[in-house]
Amino acid sequence: MTVRVPAKINLCLGVGRPRPDGFHPLATVYQAVDLHDELRITARDDGEITVAVHTEVALPEGSVVPESDDNLAVRAARLLRKHLGDESLGADIVIRKVIPVAGGMAGGSADAAAALVGCNELWGGGLSKLDLEPFAAELGSDVPFLLHGGIAIGGGRGETVSPVLARGGYHWVFATAAEGLSTAAVYAEFDRLAPDAPAEPEVPDALLNALRAGDAHALGLALSNDLTEAALSLRPELADTLDVGLRAGALGAIISGSGPTTVFLAASEQHALDLAMALTSAMNAADVIQSHGPVSGARLV
Ligand code: ATP
Repeated sequence: MTVRVPAKINLCLGVGRPRPDGFHPLATVYQAVDLHDELRITARDDGEITVAVHTEVALPEGSVVPESDDNLAVRAARLLRKHLGDESLGADIVIRKVIPVAGGMAGGSADAAAALVGCNELWGGGLSKLDLEPFAAELGSDVPFLLHGGIAIGGGRGETVSPVLARGGYHWVFATAAEGLSTAAVYAEFDRLAPDAPAEPEVPDALLNALRAGDAHALGLALSNDLTEAALSLRPELADTLDVGLRAGALGAIISGSGPTTVFLAASEQHALDLAMALTSAMNAADVIQSHGPVSGARLV
């Protein structure tokens, strides 16, 4: 069985000061984009769960995708099996990795969502995506959204998702960086730089209005990310990449999640091509990728 699962971007990322449990409260709008990992999963009946990763993107320096029980897809399969209560259930998982690693596009979380959907089907779990949500939330803040895809508001620490009324499709260009950024390091820098962050961040109305109207120009102006300052503090050269895109006429430019991938909104497919050329010629990105969204979440193919 094969499951395809998209990457996500955050059209806005409002971050509050840490909660007593250590997590940061988030107010975000996710969009799933057409950049997919693919998981091939075959059943075994000896209780073993294995994973192999075929990486089709350049791995950032110092990053590895574990081929062990630490892989989020294996953790997802184990969690589901525990719930199903049958230790003989096993699986061989082969991941074709296309989503940039450690790029703020939730590649690991995507694989976890895909493993939940795939193993549920393979093992006859009979659970709906709604039933899978609590397991997804336990595995990571972005995992519930990647079950569903589309465009959704994320609250809590990102794990409570509700769909957004939106129309139209959007053309995006992503510029990846040669070196990944640790999500934990960016949040620690955020805490240092923004000790007075609000307890309850909010999603800007302008962003929701732009999505409701399907207005790419308004959306470009409304894109925002509270982690920008922290990510730029750790990786100042990302400011140059953002500038290149804006000078080439991007409708908006932001850092994706905790970075270091940068995201540019284009007015059309042709404009996305022009932006991609400008970003490639500037030679400060490891890779430049054209994409579009929204697309659906983890699904069997
Ligand atoms: P996020 O946007 O959720 O903060 P990210 O996109 O920046 O995450 P990931 O690509 O999800 O980062 O990877 C973060 C780390 O998670 C990797 O360096 C890797 O060690 C680990 N990891 C575990 N399982 C996976 C997986 N299936 N795919 C990618 N990384 C994984």
